[in-house]
Amino acid sequence: MNCCSQKPIMEMPSGERLCKTHFTEYFESKVFNTIRKFDLIGKEEKLGIALSGGKDSLSVLNILNKLSKQNPRIKINAIAINEGISGYRDRTLETARDFCSKNNVKLHIFSYKEEFGLNLDDMLKILKVKPCTICGIFRRYLLNKKSKELKLTKLATGHNLDDECQSILMNQMRNDIAASARLGPRTGITQNEALFVPRIKPLYLCTEKEVTAYAFINGLLDSFNECPNAPQAFRANVRDMLNELEQKNPGTKYSIVNSFLQTLPFLKEKFKGGIINICSRCSEPASNGVCNACVYLEKLKRKVEA
Ligand code: SF4
Ligand SMILES: [Zn+2]
Ligand SMILES: [Zn+2]
Repeated sequence: MNCCSQKPIMEMPSGERLCKTHFTEYFESKVFNTIRKFDLIGKEEKLGIALSGGKDSLSVLNILNKLSKQNPRIKINAIAINEGISGYRDRTLETARDFCSKNNVKLHIFSYKEEFGLNLDDMLKILKVKPCTICGIFRRYLLNKKSKELKLTKLATGHNLDDECQSILMNQMRNDIAASARLGPRTGITQNEALFVPRIKPLYLCTEKEVTAYAFINGLLDSFNECPNAPQAFRANVRDMLNELEQKNPGTKYSIVNSFLQTLPFLKEKFKGGIINICSRCSEPASNGVCNACVYLEKLKRKVEA
């Protein structure tokens, strides 16, 4: 059944086929409902949006920009990280810059080269590590540090239902339940705003397919770019496995995330109260005496000097 006389662009699990206007309405109200359901945004905020220039972060920025226009007490700033991945990041940053200038959003860009002295590509020539491990450590580090410097009240990321589902399974497969306790629509276990800027995931209940459709039909981007390092990641295997399962058993991803949400309060309770140290080198949060970013910077320095 079609929603109206306009051309349908997306078939919903119920079998209903939605046109561009009705799909956009459906998607945006799903995001606003997620924000309400999990109480992600307060009455007054200075929100940061972690912007990669990909479909997820552009969609979340587009919707939060609409929210900010309706409610001037919600201010938004976009933060982009340039890891220095040749042939990939320059293009996505161009899309990010373009969107922000057209929509009058303040964009802050920070690079690994300026902050750490080396691009990711160079780091990977020096250290034999999985690209996403080191890239993720430095990105999380910079996003948290810069969000505090910009006095952001929260940082919104573009994580969608598929990303969450993959993370839940990856943590199970690695026997790392403490990492799962940090997941959820509001990340983290410890509410310590002086150390961690709270992260929120407004696309938490939207599937990758829905986000892709929203981004393309609303002209947020015109081509799909994937990081050249992504296929090497464990996540890529889990993503393919989940997509296959979803195809055979529709609703699998929703079931995994919904059942996880029921266990999440117990996980947060179990892992709360862990001691958070302050890195002796950079004063950012650390699980040991020195944070992971400083550990890797030291390893890089030693290899370069050797
Ligand atoms: S896929 Fe891996 S290397 Fe590429 S940007 Fe993401 S985390 Fe970094
Ligand atoms: Zn319609
Ligand atoms: Zn440190």
